[in-house]
Amino acid sequence: MPLLVTDAVVLHAFDYSETSRILRLATREAGVQSVLARGARRSQRRYGSALDLFAEGAAQIYTKPGRDLQTLSAFDVARARPALATDLDRFAGASCVAELMLRVATADAQPALYDALVAALDGVADAAPADAREAAIAGAWRLVAELGFAPAVDVCSSCHAPVAAGEPAMFSHPAGGVLCVRCARLNPGSRNLPAEARRALRGWLEGRRTELDDGAARAHQRLLREFLREHLADGRALRAFELWERGRWGGVVVTAEGG
Ligand SMILES: [Zn+2]
Repeated sequence: MPLLVTDAVVLHAFDYSETSRILRLATREAGVQSVLARGARRSQRRYGSALDLFAEGAAQIYTKPGRDLQTLSAFDVARARPALATDLDRFAGASCVAELMLRVATADAQPALYDALVAALDGVADAAPADAREAAIAGAWRLVAELGFAPAVDVCSSCHAPVAAGEPAMFSHPAGGVLCVRCARLNPGSRNLPAEARRALRGWLEGRRTELDDGAARAHQRLLREFLREHLADGRALRAFELWERGRWGGVVVTAEGG
C-alpha cells in the first residue's frame, strides 16, 4: 500500500469499535480522506491529543485506491488549537467551517483550499470570544471564494453591469450576488443588502476582516447559510450552521462529538 505523508486537519472524529476511531481529515495532498486510527481509543500514547477536532499536523496514511476508508499510521500534531475546544463561540464557528469543508471537498489535492481552511480555523482560534462569529463568517466566505463560487458584489450577477459601490443593492441567492436596479425588478425574491453589509462581504471575500455588532452578525450568518444552501445544491441541511445561527451551542457540541 502506498504511504501518503501530508499536512492534515481533523474535521470530524467518532469512535469505531472498542478500540479505534474514524476521522475525516482535510489533507493538503489528497483532499478530504476518511481514515481509521486503529487503537486510538486504547492507547493514548500512540496518538495523544493529535486526534482531537481541529488539530493539525503531519499525517501518515496508507492508501488503497478504490477504498473509502484509509488507514492512519501516525499523526504528529503541530497545532492542537485548544482555544477552539474551550470556548463555545469559537467551537460553534469552527464547526461551521469544518462542515462547509466536508461538504465541498473532494479527494483531489486542493492546496489553496487547504490553506484557506487552516487560515479560517486559526482566525477563529485567535479571535476573542466576542469576535469569533465574525472570524468564522470571514473564514467561510474565503473558502467559498477559493472554491470559485464567490457571490458578485460589484457587478450585477445577472447582466454584469457595474453596481455603484458604497450603496445598498438587492442580492439574489439563485443569481449568485447583487443585482442592478433593472435586474432586481425581474427577481422579486431578492433581498436588500445594506451598503455596510456589502462592504463587509467584499472584504471577507478578499481576505479582510471587519467588526460586526450582534444584529449585523446575525444577518450575515443567515446570508451565508442561505447562500450555501442555494449553491451546494445537494439538498442536505447545514446542521452546524443552523445550530450556530440559533445559538444552540450545546447541540453543536453533541453533533460534533457524537458523529
Ligand atoms: Zn443587471
